[in-house]
Parts: sequence; C-alpha cells; structure tokens
Amino acid sequence: MPELPEVETVRRGLNQVTLHQTIWGGQVLLDRTIAYPFCADDFLAELKTCAIAQWHRRGKYLLAELVKPEPKGGQVSAGWLGVHLRMTGQLLWQSQEEPLQKHCRVRLFFPDQRELRFVDQRTFGQMWFVPADRPPQEIITGLARLGVEPFSPEFSADYLAERLKQRQRPIKNALLDQTLVAGIGNIYADEALFLSQIRPQTLCSALSFAQIQRLHAAILQVLQASIEARGTTFSDFRDVSGVNGNYGGIAWVYSREGEACRTCGETIQRLKMAGRSAHFCPTCQE
Ligand SMILES: [Zn+2]
Repeated sequence: MPELPEVETVRRGLNQVTLHQTIWGGQVLLDRTIAYPFCADDFLAELKTCAIAQWHRRGKYLLAELVKPEPKGGQVSAGWLGVHLRMTGQLLWQSQEEPLQKHCRVRLFFPDQRELRFVDQRTFGQMWFVPADRPPQEIITGLARLGVEPFSPEFSADYLAERLKQRQRPIKNALLDQTLVAGIGNIYADEALFLSQIRPQTLCSALSFAQIQRLHAAILQVLQASIEARGTTFSDFRDVSGVNGNYGGIAWVYSREGEACRTCGETIQRLKMAGRSAHFCPTCQE
C-alpha cells in the first residue's frame, strides 16, 4: 500500500508532467472509482476545460488545484481533483497510443496525445471532483480526520508524548492510526520502530519520553530516506512514469523475516498485530 513517501514521489512526478495543460476529455471505465460527484459523467464534465495549477499532498491523499482560463485573460479557481491510491492505485502519465492496462479505471486526456491513467487492480482507489465553492474536506471526508503532517512544525516529540500517554494499545497500532500522524503505514512504522529501538508490541503508555524523542526523530528519518529513494520497492508501487522505488534495498526490518539484522546479525522476526505483519529485531528492539 502506498504510504507518504510513495504518494509524495507520485506528487512530485505529477508536478513535472501535468501542469498548465487543459484537460479536454476523459473516460471512466469503472464507475465506483469516482467517489464524487455520484455520476461519472458529471465528474468528467466538471474536469473538462480545467488545467492543473499544482498537485498537493495531505497524508496519503493527492489534491490537484484546478484552474480555468478567464475570457479576459488570467485564470480562476475551478475546484480540486482528489485522488487516494489505497491498496494498489497507480497514476501513470502515458501516450494515448499505449495499450490500455487491464486494470485501467479512469483516463484523463491532455494535449499532445498524452493522458493520465488511474490503474488500480484491487479497485479500492478513489477519485473526487470538489467544486470551487466547497472546502475539500467537506467532500473528501477522510481529510477532516487526518492528524498532523510529519514534516509540519506541529509534529514534535511533545505532541507525540501528549497523544500517546495513557494509551493502552501497542505503539505499532498507534502509528498506523492516521488521526495521530498522517501518511505512515506498515512499512515505515516497522522501520521507525527499529531505528528507535522499540518493540512494536510495546504499549504507548509504557514509553519513556526519551523513547518518544527517538521515535519522533526516526519517523522523520525513514520517511526522508524513502522519499530520497523515490519510494518503496515493495508491493506494486509505481511512480508516474511506471518505475518502482528503491527503498526495499535499504530497509532495516520490513519484509526481512528470517534475514540477518543489519546492525547485530540477529534473525529478524515477524508477528501478527491487528491483522498486519510487524517485523522487528529481538536484540536491537526492547
Ligand atoms: Zn539487531
């Protein structure tokens, strides 16, 4: 599942190829990919003649700022295009001549025979059009529930300590909760817990402030390292040009069950927590 570094990699790629070109049409191949408006034809009609001024990211959501040209020159705000990749969604920038992928759900047509394709095998991915007179979180309701962005000033060791104290649940599960901090999923939760030497099953309430400080720093460190590697190697993540990331080659514990810890040589273990796999080193993490 794409997490913050993967979505950020897609955002940067989209900003390089899709901006300031007028969308002249499109095709919805799977109606339920369009979460709003409720009719796929309305979605396409709204996007037609819009251009994308900038792609933003909030948690794992992508938000394209839409504009339309004004008759007298200049441009006016035309709302937002929202995208959530969920489990297997991919946004690919391609030539219209490229054969259609089996799991292609939505196509948006741009000039010069280019198109943006939303390919999504598992079909959990979603797209929204948000009208200019509505705030995005009113239509894309998941946005309203998101916690702080990890790279924002609000995300500090003090914030984490305040939110984790007296919580009787494992820290691994807390990190996956998007209302605590936005954008972290299974991969980077495991990686951050390794770097901060905390076992995934440790209860939040049992963490010392020193541990929380280490965890805070480790979250920023692993997210930054993965963004620099252009996202993960794991799963079927692809950037807009269809290329996989490089983070898998440098992962500490994620997906390394049975392999040697890169720090101490101990065998990496895996356990099930809340239906997800947690990977850790029994020696380095206490
Ligand atoms: Zn180790």
